[in-house]
Amino acid sequence: PCQAGKCLRITCSLGLSIAPDDSDDFDILLKNADTAMYIAKDRGRNGWQSYNEEMSRNLKENLRLATDLRGAIDSQQLVMHYQPKFELKTGNLVGAEALLRWEHPTLGMIYPDSFIFIAEKTGLITEIGAWVLQEACFQAAKWHQQGFAHLHVSVNLSPVQFQRGDLEAIVVDALSDTGLPARALELELTESLFIEKGLDVSGVLHRLREHGVRFSIDDLGTGYSNLGYLTRFKVETLKIDRSFISRLTHNSHDEAVVRAITQMAHGLNMLIVAEGIEDESTLERLRLLGCDKGQGYFWAGGLSPDEFNQFLLETAGDE
Ligand code: C2E
Ligand code: MG
Ligand code: MG
Repeated sequence: PCQAGKCLRITCSLGLSIAPDDSDDFDILLKNADTAMYIAKDRGRNGWQSYNEEMSRNLKENLRLATDLRGAIDSQQLVMHYQPKFELKTGNLVGAEALLRWEHPTLGMIYPDSFIFIAEKTGLITEIGAWVLQEACFQAAKWHQQGFAHLHVSVNLSPVQFQRGDLEAIVVDALSDTGLPARALELELTESLFIEKGLDVSGVLHRLREHGVRFSIDDLGTGYSNLGYLTRFKVETLKIDRSFISRLTHNSHDEAVVRAITQMAHGLNMLIVAEGIEDESTLERLRLLGCDKGQGYFWAGGLSPDEFNQFLLETAGDE
């Protein structure tokens, strides 16, 4: 409808629950349809979903995780692991990516893909994200004190951290509280951040860059296909998504994509990091393609702080 010179575009999300298959009780049918409608909204709106039992199970599980997550920071169930990152040309260890883990008292280790979206929906990501930054900077400052002052740490940021809380102050506090130099901190952003309208992304990035912090774009090639943002927002590094790397030696199309992204990055004065390197032949191919840095199970997955220390001492001997 158009009114007062303004056009509103209205779309509809539908959830379906059918009697008697799903239930023959009206209230239960309505609840099921509501659950299905939320799934339709989550999947991009303007569509419909029909209810199935798995939806209720997932919803229940997620509600439980949301409740448990509230207490997880205070009861020290969140921990950071660190995945080593290497320069491909020299084979030298250059830093690590900080990866969040949740040691749930009854469910065991939970990986971030299963709870970050819950933290984002409930707003807990602000508090968790601030803790992650403090913890990662603290750990990296420790490596520096141990004599490994060339190492940097990369921290993943959620787009929601740009919407809520004062990200700039949180980053600056983490650096000053731990004494880590800003040049040793890299923040990993996702492409989706650049599609969100109304966020002062460029202002925040600009101010943090003035402090000396560096940026990278994570999972490149999986989200947004308009690369225009790369020239508008200055980032130092592009991380090619694991999906391209894992098929690199079997699929010539993936090789073409990696080659093109590498050339583009170098043309724009950016570095390329490949994630998910699992074997020597992939590593060799990436070296030939001119890729700058890499991480992956070929060297190590995410390591606890103690394991990382051990790794550091062993690798330092090789360099
Ligand atoms: P990401 O930033 O792309 O991190 C890389 C993921 O790939 C990690 O999974 C890592 O363990 C896994 N990985 C690394 N090397 C290999 C490999 O050689 N093969 C395979 N198959 N996988 C590999 P993880 O730790 O489960 O993290 C998943 C995602 O969760 C991360 O993807 C990141 O987007 C998000 N995440 C992790 N920590 C944080 C955090 O502190 N804050 C936020 N906002 N997001 C986080
Ligand atoms: Mg990452
Ligand atoms: Mg990634």
